[in-house]
Amino acid sequence: MNINWYPGHMKKTKDLLQENIKLVNIVIEVIDARIPISSKNPDFDKLFRDKKRLIVLNKYDLADPNMNKLWEDYYRKKGWSVVLYNSTNNKELKKLEEAIADASKEIVERYKKRGLLNKTIKAMIVGIPNVGKSTLINSLCKRKSAKTGNMPGITKGKQWIHLSGNIDLLDTPGILWPKFDDEKGALNLSFTGAIKDDVLILEEVSLKFVEKMIELGRINSVTEKYGIERGDTALDILDNIAEKKGFFLPNKDTDYLRVANLLFNDFRAGKLGRITLESPDNANNANKN
Ligand code: GDP
Repeated sequence: MNINWYPGHMKKTKDLLQENIKLVNIVIEVIDARIPISSKNPDFDKLFRDKKRLIVLNKYDLADPNMNKLWEDYYRKKGWSVVLYNSTNNKELKKLEEAIADASKEIVERYKKRGLLNKTIKAMIVGIPNVGKSTLINSLCKRKSAKTGNMPGITKGKQWIHLSGNIDLLDTPGILWPKFDDEKGALNLSFTGAIKDDVLILEEVSLKFVEKMIELGRINSVTEKYGIERGDTALDILDNIAEKKGFFLPNKDTDYLRVANLLFNDFRAGKLGRITLESPDNANNANKN
């Protein structure tokens, strides 16, 4: 799989991120609850070493509820603040604001000790593409008015959104590319749509997706959704979907691209059920290597 990220573009993005990090006390890292490992750039850990961090397990509404609990515990045990979140549901905004306020408690205490009673805490949102950063910021923006920052040390033009608990959130997210160096990660990112379909051979990726569902013991979600037999192999599943839906090309060959599009549209919209592709066990094993 060959994905083009231009080194020049990467450097610029990283420089900008590093510049913005200096302006904030707390970093809100958004990851995809379905793929907490693959949707995290390991560089983030180095970049934010000295910052208070809140992990937002976003899109938890699409992820398996039991796995959500395991991931929440995993991060808590690491001593990090964490919140399960659905950016598309405005009813959950309060939960996020509370989590941000909770994560900033220590900093507020430190300020208090120095006699700084009403000092604003500054936060920024970071994450790889497609995890839901913009949706999250937009929902926070709708409720609060963005205000222009004329505080010392803040570059003109940056917009801050004032949140409850005396917190100001930078309105532009910090973006980093995901890591593509292992095939598993790249595939997980393609399944969820974080890598654009047009750079992929979608038919091949859909076969890998079916194999993944078999490995996770979730293939029933696919067979039940389309009312098909399981067959012996992953390819049988794609063939059975095509047969059931009548997805054939004019020359009668199976239209695997159409099958792939159907599968991914359904998976990404949660229509195959709530599925998590990576467990904390995978993370522990990855750390051992
Ligand atoms: P960004 O690239 O990180 O800014 O991601 P976007 O905010 O553009 O979101 C990518 C896609 O994920 C959009 O289609 C959003 O509607 C969707 N999305 C974002 N957050 C959630 C969530 O919590 N749950 C669900 N179901 N979809 C979400």
